[in-house]
Amino acid sequence: MENCIFCKIANGEIPSNTIYEDENFRVILDNGPATKGHALVLPKEHYADLFEIPEDVAAGAVKVAKKVAGMMKDTLLCDGLNLVQNNGQVAGQTVMHYHLHIIPRYKDDGQTILWKPTRPSADELAEIRKTICG
Ligand code: AMP
Ligand code: ZN
Repeated sequence: MENCIFCKIANGEIPSNTIYEDENFRVILDNGPATKGHALVLPKEHYADLFEIPEDVAAGAVKVAKKVAGMMKDTLLCDGLNLVQNNGQVAGQTVMHYHLHIIPRYKDDGQTILWKPTRPSADELAEIRKTICG
């Protein structure tokens, strides 16, 4: 993809703070981090989002995230970690090249990466299940 900044970063055409690289992925430090060590797993091939990325590449991204999560636990001594992956503008995706956020969490880090729970009735949940599963 011409003009895709994450294609350029993933393939080394634009410099980045790379913390892991293999044949298919590059992991870089996010330049607007939620917390210390916030990183992005970038596939070297261009896929816009979860709907486009092949199953095996998506599985590979999670394998890489697990490896990097271990590195972070050992070196940054984080107390926890969020994996976040946004798809579509409405879900907060701002760069349209698939990426998996690895966000190390620290006690009292002041971040809120959770959602506001709602209270659907049992009937509403059953209806949603029917809509999804038929
Ligand atoms: P998302 O909102 O899920 O699309 O996440 C995009 C992320 O990419 C944000 O957290 C940005 O801070 C980060 N980002 C955008 N451009 C760059 C860049 N050139 N280098 C590193 N991180 C970037
Ligand atoms: Zn791209």
